[in-house]
Amino acid sequence: MTDQTAIQVSSGNFLAPAASLTEAKERYSLFKQFVSSVLEKGRDYGIVPGVSKPTLLKPGAEKLGAFFGLRPTFLIQESVNDWTGKDHGEPFFFREYKCQLLKNGELVGEGIGSCNSWEKKYRYRQSERVCPECGKPTIIKGKEEYGGGWLCYGKKGGCSAKFADNAPEIINQEVGQVANKDVADQVNTIDKMAQKRALVAAILIATNASDYFTQDMEDFADHTDIIDGSFKEVSQPVTSDQKVTDDQLYDCMNGKVIELFATSWNISKSDAAKEVSKLKEVGKITGKMSLSDYQKLAYGGE
Ligand SMILES: [Zn+2]
Repeated sequence: MTDQTAIQVSSGNFLAPAASLTEAKERYSLFKQFVSSVLEKGRDYGIVPGVSKPTLLKPGAEKLGAFFGLRPTFLIQESVNDWTGKDHGEPFFFREYKCQLLKNGELVGEGIGSCNSWEKKYRYRQSERVCPECGKPTIIKGKEEYGGGWLCYGKKGGCSAKFADNAPEIINQEVGQVANKDVADQVNTIDKMAQKRALVAAILIATNASDYFTQDMEDFADHTDIIDGSFKEVSQPVTSDQKVTDDQLYDCMNGKVIELFATSWNISKSDAAKEVSKLKEVGKITGKMSLSDYQKLAYGGE
């Protein structure tokens, strides 16, 4: 399957009610032109190998919104601010927005999106070993033949200081994935992300772009190795910057997944979002999952 067939447009309901055939054809061709000339693969949409339709990404959704002259309005649906962690064991922030898209004052579509501080990228940060002398993250393990220990590597811009194998100022450092102590600083980011996810969902509905782009989890069914796969099902080579990441897929299906968990577990959406984030962190939820996978997980009592 070529890229061209993958993004072919099919007919459907258009923004304008009761569009004439001519209008429909015009819109069809306009949309096609817009996608091929303005939207950029890898940035605005991504191709998931083996999935017939491309996945619309946030920048693409924003461009579509501007193209169709849609004015987004964001309505806060649910908001949790646990600054001290008294209710959740650690600080927790959650936002859910409904995005309504207006064209000439008329509501043409709406979508739901949420974000919370327990999503991996907000809950943790990567911490590197730093040199106690110069403060740079240039510490490496010294080679055994050179006496072992730790070295502030000069070739990486370090100060060449040496430390013993068991030097406490080195080995007592927290490294790797560590809890983000400044989660509260990210409340604004979380807020913006929830709005963006709601916007993507709304744009897909309002512009009928789901004929063109996928947002359906079913489309991801039974495609293993979507992210790092061998790409044997597409004739066109996929370069690394065109790969859709797990996080991007998650952004696309976020609203649906959280709603599913909230309903099946009979919990609030903020609690559902937290649970989904936890499951994603331990690898039980991935962007590769299909709707039935999610249903199994939600209803299976995991
Ligand atoms: Zn140093």
